[in-house]
Amino acid sequence: MNTSTLPPPDPRNLEPPTIDQLIELEVRIADEIQLLKEELNAANAELEESTSTHAIGGSSRHAPESLDEVSATSMRLREERLHLLEAALESMDAGLYGECEVCRESIPWARLDAQPEALTCTRCGSV
Ligand SMILES: [Zn+2]
Repeated sequence: MNTSTLPPPDPRNLEPPTIDQLIELEVRIADEIQLLKEELNAANAELEESTSTHAIGGSSRHAPESLDEVSATSMRLREERLHLLEAALESMDAGLYGECEVCRESIPWARLDAQPEALTCTRCGSV
């Protein structure tokens, strides 16, 4: 494996995405939305199960709160990402995808490839 130098940046990566790249991204986004929804559903089902077990058990003196917090945080992050991805799909439908929502410049392909949910260009994006 060649680890000596990184290849020079492909100039095409600084261009806005082509139609083919957009279609590829749309598929990736749709897949990820599907996956996130399944994960959230599974997590919700688990949560309901543990809540009802709790109610039956009665003694909630020392619940593993830290664990609950961790899973709550990761669920919240998944939900946020789900919303971002859904917004990206919506802007694709509206034909606005790949355009920075702040300055209206085209977002380079490299950025969209790394972060399909990006709705702002590198300069305007705080994410
Ligand atoms: Zn911008």
